[in-house]
Amino acid sequence: MSAMNSHVIILVGAGPAGMAVASSLAKAGHEVIILNRDIKFGGLAEYGIFPSKLKLRGGLKKQYWELLERPNVHYFGNVSTGNGKDLTVEDVRNLGASAVVFSIGAQGTKAIGVEGDSAQGVFHAKDVVYHFNRLPGFGDRPFDMGKHVAIIGAGDVMVDISHWLIRYKKVERVTAIVRRGPAERKYNPKEIRAVCANMDVDGIAKEVVRIKDRLAAVGQKADEVLKALTDEFTKCEPKVSDTKMGFKFLASPKRILVDGSNRVRGLEMEDNKLDPKGEDTVAVGLKQYYEFPCDAVIFAVGDKVDETVGLPYKSGMFVTNPNKTGNDPDDAFFQAYDETTGKIVDGVFLAGWARKASEGLVGIAKRDGDWCAEVVNRYLATKTSGSHSGAKVVLDKLVSILKAHKSHPVDLRGLRVLESREKSHQGATDCIGEFKYASNQDMIELIERGKAQ
Ligand SMILES: Cc1cc2nc3c(=O)[nH]c(=O)nc-3n(C[C@H](O)[C@H](O)[C@H](O)COP(=O)(O)OP(=O)(O)OC[C@H]3O[C@@H](n4cnc5c(N)ncnc54)[C@H](O)[C@@H]3O)c2cc1C
Repeated sequence: MSAMNSHVIILVGAGPAGMAVASSLAKAGHEVIILNRDIKFGGLAEYGIFPSKLKLRGGLKKQYWELLERPNVHYFGNVSTGNGKDLTVEDVRNLGASAVVFSIGAQGTKAIGVEGDSAQGVFHAKDVVYHFNRLPGFGDRPFDMGKHVAIIGAGDVMVDISHWLIRYKKVERVTAIVRRGPAERKYNPKEIRAVCANMDVDGIAKEVVRIKDRLAAVGQKADEVLKALTDEFTKCEPKVSDTKMGFKFLASPKRILVDGSNRVRGLEMEDNKLDPKGEDTVAVGLKQYYEFPCDAVIFAVGDKVDETVGLPYKSGMFVTNPNKTGNDPDDAFFQAYDETTGKIVDGVFLAGWARKASEGLVGIAKRDGDWCAEVVNRYLATKTSGSHSGAKVVLDKLVSILKAHKSHPVDLRGLRVLESREKSHQGATDCIGEFKYASNQDMIELIERGKAQ
């Protein structure tokens, strides 16, 4: 691409979606500036995916390093965008880039909405995942789980957290609380291998017998459902603890029960039945309640975006253009949209979990990023690059604002210092296989010392 058509693009968020957008646009010859909240790049690939998935994480890391080495990619880690943060959304928009893509993931927590959810021992899944992946702000805080942990949810995140509780925390018992039945479980059968050696198979069989009439009411045979569930407990990873894992099916938590010190002592649960809904089923509360004792409750029911960032927001999502018009009608999916003015926010795009919270695995986020880059490219083709500032002007402006805001951005050189220091700790790993600094301050200090040497 000739310099005439080269634009400056700002990407906010360096997770799998953002890195895919950056990669496409950098390859197309644009100057790409990446602003990322975390010092390290990767988003949930660094701080979400289970630490022992070394192959997946290693492969992504390699790709991301290669991208950041490109001369037309400029990385600023430890720079948050949002109200009261290093930069506001308006600051970013006013830097003079031709387009801004927000790929900041889904950082909000879905309202739990049951009484007592502020009790000690109640956690949101993402915080727990951030904790065992050592994200600064979470890695160095205690997460006291007690002996018996209830996890609300039946997806892969529930399995990942069980994995940590069973293999590393070695708690006595983990129970997955599932609104519907075994047939409606959402996790990937391959993922259950990480924990299936610890399954309380007798307890699970009893649980399925307990709900057999309610399964029969929607045409599900209890023995078949049980077989399908337990047949997946094969190729289990070796057992390393005595933790027992089980399920509570057709159950919805209604209230967190606490002791005199506001610490979790259990859940008030409502029994559900299943009603058919087309090919699928829905859970319907039966208004029959019982107590379920446990020491900690983790809600693994999905995420929503962070409404405090300052992008147009509605019902857990950033708002995208509802009007499918223009060159390609699907472009609207990626355009930020202001409902108060009824107009798109010119030059502002969304990708990945920022566009659709909790949607799919890394491959899906990457595809979303690739698609968003195509949309941005179509937008750029309608602009002359001369009407916008060049990379040096934008970068100078960015650096001076960050300086004025007393921010501590981390560049590629800083990341290299950090990487080599963390690698030199190998052997002295924390709980899951690799050494990570879990405080921003420690990382900044050693980066600054390393750069000075
Ligand atoms: C517990 C868990 C386990 C998973 N395991 C797997 C797995 O095994 N395999 C798999 O393929 N997928 C897995 N996934 C899914 C995968 O992680 C996601 O699909 C993917 O990370 C989403 O990418 P993203 O770029 O949209 O968001 P994220 O990965 O969340 O990245 C967001 C980025 O934005 C930055 N950011 C956030 N807020 C701001 C802000 N205000 N300003 C500036 N920057 C900001 C963050 O620092 C981060 O770098 C898992 C997800 C979870 C939650």
